[in-house]
Amino acid sequence: MIYDVIIIGAGVTGSAVARELSRYRANVLVMDKGEDVCTGTSKANSAIVHAGYDCVPGSLMAKMNVRGNELMGDLARDLEIPFKRNGSMVVCIHKEELGGLEELYERGKKNGVPGLRLLNREECLSVEPNLSENVEGALYAETAGIVCPFKLTIAMAEHANQNGVDFVFNTEAEKLWRDEEGIWNIQTANGRYRTRIVVNAAGVYADVFHNMVSESKIHITPRRGDYCLLDRNVGDFVKHTIFPQPTKLGKGILVAPTIHGNVIVGPTAIDIEDKEAVATTQEGIDELISKAEMHVRHLPIRQVITSFAGLRAHEDHHEFILGEPEDAPGFMDCAGIESPGLTSSPAIGEYIGGLIRDRLTLEKKEHWIATRRDVLDPQTLSVEERNELIRKNPAYGQIICRCETVTEGEILDAIHRPLGARSLDGVKRRTRAGMGRCQAGFCSPRVMEILVRELGLPMEKITKSGGNSRIVLGRSKEVKE
Ligand SMILES: Cc1cc2nc3c(=O)[nH]c(=O)nc-3n(C[C@H](O)[C@H](O)[C@H](O)COP(=O)(O)OP(=O)(O)OC[C@H]3O[C@@H](n4cnc5c(N)ncnc54)[C@H](O)[C@@H]3O)c2cc1C
Repeated sequence: MIYDVIIIGAGVTGSAVARELSRYRANVLVMDKGEDVCTGTSKANSAIVHAGYDCVPGSLMAKMNVRGNELMGDLARDLEIPFKRNGSMVVCIHKEELGGLEELYERGKKNGVPGLRLLNREECLSVEPNLSENVEGALYAETAGIVCPFKLTIAMAEHANQNGVDFVFNTEAEKLWRDEEGIWNIQTANGRYRTRIVVNAAGVYADVFHNMVSESKIHITPRRGDYCLLDRNVGDFVKHTIFPQPTKLGKGILVAPTIHGNVIVGPTAIDIEDKEAVATTQEGIDELISKAEMHVRHLPIRQVITSFAGLRAHEDHHEFILGEPEDAPGFMDCAGIESPGLTSSPAIGEYIGGLIRDRLTLEKKEHWIATRRDVLDPQTLSVEERNELIRKNPAYGQIICRCETVTEGEILDAIHRPLGARSLDGVKRRTRAGMGRCQAGFCSPRVMEILVRELGLPMEKITKSGGNSRIVLGRSKEVKE
């Protein structure tokens, strides 16, 4: 079979392109080496929907950021993605840096960012009392928001799948070439795939594929960002996303509420070689705490419930690379998608989807399902509605994750929906089971039992996140010959 389009990478970028293409009559496949959607950088970031004031005017980054921000509201509504415009503040703690805020403000205006305002010290402290006493002023952006990065990615992928896009997991693209018929071939351990168009949405590996097919080489450095996540009992520490002034290395260490009511602190910006190295380090954590404490006071750092790191796909020119290289027709890059890649994803989907539509002269489907429903959360219902739900389906009365109050009904929904969960992390990203204070200490065995029962697998086959991440290796008291 020859596909019309194969997308390498089921992160937020690949999923956004897939969703856009699902509007048209075409055979589209998304391929990922991971066991699920959202196993790369899209799962480990600040989850901020940036306003777009700090990108270089005229750049693709600026255009995609502002357009992505604009699209996010309707997308979140249609696909039931948790999203809120909480506003952001770039805070200045030295008088001599106030000029930098004005530059950002002007840049934002050039980029077409609405709702920007410069705040003085008193205005800053009145809206955010936990800001440093040294605060001199801030740039306020009312369109900035916070989103659930897992649900954003999963929702777009599910929506694409619901509208006919196929997904294949545990399938690593190894080699890529265009044959004499002009068809792209993708070699994997599970066989060869053929397609008219390839979309390169492979995150930190996008340079590998680009360089396989084009003479104009690119280079991506994995730039690690370490984070601390604080418990929900301090979730009101700040209301807005608090940034320092951006530097060459990025947007700096922020303190922000998350859409689920935690507080996130980070990220660092450490250039490394290894494209898989996502372990945090003590130095990274110390650095992020000391830098965060320059802009806020009484940071409740004792309320840390976990730390994690993500890798930015930093291309040497710090710009998104979107579209076909001149010498590789039919090969569509989505490379160098570092921050604001999450924000930009709906716009990247729209842009790349449009290029492919025109190139293959694709026709719109008559029946495109425009909405998608999320895993039903009984906490969003009234008491009467919840009682009715439990009466009809008692699984919604069984609490499995105590910290996040996740029921068995939600876990069953997560497993049995399109592109359903197959691992502990898959369940976690769809329901939040295991994301709370005890970090899955209590609910892991119970979620594993549900996975065993529902997927018909032996306990030894249940993994944390696919591959070799098995949790149970065998019975401890089993007598072995
Ligand atoms: C520390 C940090 C903070 C950030 N904060 C923000 C923020 O607040 N707001 C914002 O807008 N953006 C933010 N970003 C950027 C954003 O997270 C990324 O731009 C976005 O997630 C990139 O998505 P992607 O789909 O391109 O890459 P990924 O999510 O990494 O997806 C790539 C996929 O390709 C797959 N893949 C790779 N190689 C192969 C292969 N050979 N075969 C098959 N599959 C393969 C991987 O398994 C992976 O699933 C941040 C990034 C980091 C690291």
